[in-house]
Order: sequence, then structure tokens, then C-alpha cells
Amino acid sequence: MGVEVDFEKISEEISTSIENLAPEKKRFYKVTTPSLGPSVVRNIEAITTGLKYVIKPMRITIDYPRQVLEQPPWYRGMFRLLENVCIGCSLCDIICPSDAIRMVLNPEKKKRPVINWGRCIFCYYCVDICPVEAFDTTTIHDMAFDKYEDMLTNLEEFTKDPREKDPSKGAMRMRIKFDEKRGFVYEPTGKKNGGG
Ligand code: SF4
Ligand code: SF4
Repeated sequence: MGVEVDFEKISEEISTSIENLAPEKKRFYKVTTPSLGPSVVRNIEAITTGLKYVIKPMRITIDYPRQVLEQPPWYRGMFRLLENVCIGCSLCDIICPSDAIRMVLNPEKKKRPVINWGRCIFCYYCVDICPVEAFDTTTIHDMAFDKYEDMLTNLEEFTKDPREKDPSKGAMRMRIKFDEKRGFVYEPTGKKNGGG
């Protein structure tokens, strides 16, 4: 035998519970249909705002990839291995919290790290712990890969300079500025993006 649900009673009980709430909470739950006057005014205001931006557009984003945001030098972007500097200590592999680094043997049978960009979270623990500064860091963060397998590097790929494949190389660097009237605006720095 199925259970009969008295929806009317439940609805009544919910209403009573809301009625018993503190006044400020009651206000929160109160749903009112606005009268025609204010509703018309609000719609006209919305249309006027829309028209204002059609006549005088205000860009709130940058024209990527022709323009890019200027990143601070400490921004944690893609990096490469300086193979001749690395001493094969494996500390980077041990500390990596997302298991993105794996040690492989180079032709001289020395251990060197390779990276899976698909796992890397750019925490830079590996960069910080490396005792010999064997990672060359950049602020590049927008590299695209066609396939997941392309994110799994081998030694040859992990030693290549990411700056060579920087997707926004040559783009104008933009700086964020605060404008009293318009909020955040972007202004060109006059410098082209070199991929660093
Ligand atoms: S930046 Fe962090 S997540 Fe990426 S490889 Fe280094 S330790 Fe691992
Ligand atoms: S921590 Fe530095 S030296 Fe040690 S294996 Fe990693 S890159 Fe090489």
C-alpha cells in the first residue's frame, strides 16, 4: 500500500514555520509581485544601460591573444629542466604533491626528471627544493596541447625552452589599473610579450 502525502498540509506547515521565523528572516522569504509602475521603470533602466554600452562600448576584457596581462616576475608558469645542471637527486620527484614528476635515465644512465603537464598544479615545490636550481622558470601559463599524450614529456621535450612555443609571443602586455568611474581598466605597457 502506497503512502499518501498530504501536500496541502505540508505547505501549510512550511508557511507557519516561516511565519514563526524572526522578522529579518521573514523578509528574506517574502516573495512579492512588483506593481506595474516600478517594474516598467526598471525595464526601461535595463534597456537604457544596454543601449549605453552599444553606443559607447567599454571593454572589460583584453583582446587575447593580441594582448596579454602583464604577469609579475614571481608568477609560476611553465618551466624546463637544465639537464647539465641537474644532479639527479630525485628531490623534485619525491616532493611533487601531484605525482607529476618521474625520474628517467638519460643516455649516460644518469637519473633526470620528466614532467606530466596534465598533472602539474604549478605549486613550484620542485623548483624551490632543487638544490642546484636546475629548473628554468617562465611566466607562460597558456600553452595548449592537442592530445593528452603530448603533455607527457620526455627528456628532450622537458629541456626545450617553453618560450619558443609561447602562444602569446609578440602580444602587447597590458597592465590593470583602477579607474574611479569605470572600475578596472587595462592600459598597454608599451612592451611586447617575449614569453618570459
Ligand atoms: S610545480 Fe608542483 S605539481 Fe608541478 S611538477 Fe613541480 S612539484 Fe609537481
Ligand atoms: S631536484 Fe633538481 S637536481 Fe634534483 S633531480 Fe630534481 S631537477 Fe635534478
